[in-house]
Amino acid sequence: MNRRLTSAALDFPETEEPLQRVVGCLRGADPGPTLICIGGLHGNEPAGVQALRRVFQTLSRDPSLLICGEFVGLIGNLAALSEGRRFLAKDLNRQWRVEVVRRKEGSCGSIDEAAEDRERRELLAELDRVFGRARDETFALDLHTTSGESVPFVAMGDTLRNRRFALRFPLPMILGLEEHLDGTISEFLTLSGHTTITVETGQHASPAAVSNAEAAIWLALGEAGLLEASETARVRSARQRLGRAAQGVPRFLELRYRHPIFPGDGFRMEPGFTNFDPVAPDQLLGVNNRGEIRSRWRGRVLMPLYQELGEDGFFIVREFRRLWLSISALLRRLRIDAVVHWLPGITRHRSRPGTLVVDRKILRWYSMEALHLLGFRRQRALGDLLLVSRRQHAADRGKKANSRSERRAASR
Ligand SMILES: [Zn+2]
Repeated sequence: MNRRLTSAALDFPETEEPLQRVVGCLRGADPGPTLICIGGLHGNEPAGVQALRRVFQTLSRDPSLLICGEFVGLIGNLAALSEGRRFLAKDLNRQWRVEVVRRKEGSCGSIDEAAEDRERRELLAELDRVFGRARDETFALDLHTTSGESVPFVAMGDTLRNRRFALRFPLPMILGLEEHLDGTISEFLTLSGHTTITVETGQHASPAAVSNAEAAIWLALGEAGLLEASETARVRSARQRLGRAAQGVPRFLELRYRHPIFPGDGFRMEPGFTNFDPVAPDQLLGVNNRGEIRSRWRGRVLMPLYQELGEDGFFIVREFRRLWLSISALLRRLRIDAVVHWLPGITRHRSRPGTLVVDRKILRWYSMEALHLLGFRRQRALGDLLLVSRRQHAADRGKKANSRSERRAASR
């Protein structure tokens, strides 16, 4: 099908090119790590796709820049992107729960298949194809934009290897976001063993979002170890661009609250918020059919919703100190999580390995933050009981990069 990128807001000359799932695919002369970048998983977010096109244009003019491994750029939601809509039937970034994905794997698709089921099937086939032939470390970068104005930021499932990669980006790092979002592609790829981060690069229609996404891609290529050593300057300038764009926002933040939107809710965000604006207790954040929504926290607002489609009204994040990342890494390496069920009020789930049942009546001092440090994530609450599960790969540090990419990374 001949689809075209239709974004009135992003008027780039390259918008006349037909849309295809694979934006580009390049292999270096030597074996090495694999990096897949995904843009347009939400169809109203063309910035990542535009950025991928720019990077592949540069690389195609001088293929010798990429010296090892494989770099692939993919479009997430082709059909929705061609219509400039977030999605057609359902949010493609909520369709990646591992058991659902693998159950539907191999199905050929039916006539009444929902648009996003088809998108997921096709995208999964590409991901499997590319990662399936990888012989070294595998990386994924998922590029998004926000409806409100924003400085760029990075989010990821909180495993040590995702952290290690995310820390190379001089951007605010949000922990815990994916715990509140079910079935994201980033969670799926993390669980599949790939080092995965999501970078939000700015407002949907802002040209700066495209430039930030381009910088994120160059930085990912450099840090994953795919680029020629002489490209240090390009990688450094990408890092500087992101650092400048994120100035004034704390580096480490943890998600404290998600405001869900239900059908017929009538949610409207109070106008004027941009990402990371400070909020005080009792501050008016929005309204719905039941009345005003006021903040119960001191923190910062994240991703205030100023578009029609979406299930999240806003998030509240709070700053934490970097020291906690080191403490958490140490606790995970010591495998403290293996004995945490010795505490009163915590038992191991009878049938689910890696899952704990926390009785909040007994464990009154219980704190989810403490369990986060150990690599657990909240699963669901059943009255006073809370199910938490240990993240797969929580303490993996990832394969060591091969000596060539390690040397190159070290030289920067
Ligand atoms: Zn998005």
